[in-house]
Amino acid sequence: MKYISVAIDGPSGAGKSTLARRAAAEMGYLYVDTGAIYRTVAVGALRRGVDPADAAAVESILSDMHIRLAYDPKDGLQHMYLDGEDVSEQIRLHEISQHASTISAIPKVREFLLDLQRDLARNNHVVMDGRDIGTVVLPDAQVKIFLTASAQARAERRFLELQQRGQQADFDTVLRDIILRDEQDSNRPIAPLRRADDAVLIDTTELDLEQSLQAIVSAVRKGIAV
Ligand code: C5P
Repeated sequence: MKYISVAIDGPSGAGKSTLARRAAAEMGYLYVDTGAIYRTVAVGALRRGVDPADAAAVESILSDMHIRLAYDPKDGLQHMYLDGEDVSEQIRLHEISQHASTISAIPKVREFLLDLQRDLARNNHVVMDGRDIGTVVLPDAQVKIFLTASAQARAERRFLELQQRGQQADFDTVLRDIILRDEQDSNRPIAPLRRADDAVLIDTTELDLEQSLQAIVSAVRKGIAV
C-alpha cells in the first residue's frame, strides 16, 4: 500500500503542532511531531551530564540513548520515551527548546533520527511536522506545507501557551528566544529551516486557528487529489 505523507515545516511558534495534529485527525492520518524527538535527545544529554553544545560528547552517548515514540491508545497523543521513561512533559519545559535547537544542529544527531522518522512514514499515512521534513526527511512527500507567521505573532501565541501551562514567562524573553531560534535553525549548515521549492506557503499572522486549519486541510486535499 502506498502511504500518503504530508510534510509541514516552519519556524517555531507558527502553530505547526496544534494545526498539524488537528489536520491529521481530520484526515485520519498519524501525527508525528519531530520537534518532540529532538527535545527528547536534549533531555537525554542533560540527564547524562552532557552539554548539548558539545558535539563530540553528544555523539558519544547517542547509541546508548534509547528513544521511542508511542501513541496513547486512549487519546491518540504522541508520547516520547527516553530510556523507558515517559518524558512527554519534561520535554516541553521552556529551557529545553533552546537545548533542542542546539543539539539538532549536530549532523550525527540528525542522521541518528532519520530512520525513526522515515519508518513512521513508510508504515502510516502521516502528517509530520518539523523543520526539514519536506526538504530532507520526506523529500517525496505528496503534500508539503511551509507554515509561518511574523515573529511578533508567534511570540504572542507561545507566551499565551506558556501561561496556560502555568509556566513563568516574560514576553520579551519569549520574543528574543524565538528570533534566536529562527536564526539558529535557518543558518545551520545541515538541514536548515527553509521552504521546499514545491511547498505551499501558508502565513497565519492574520489567520485564527480555524482559518489556518482550513487553509491546511484544503492544501492537503488539493495535494492528494492530483
Ligand atoms: O518544533 P519544536 O519547537 O518542538 O522543535 C524544537 C527544536 O528542534 C527546533 O528549534 C529545531 O531546532 C529542532 N528541530 C529540527 N528539526 C525538526 C524538528 C525540530 O531541527 N524536524
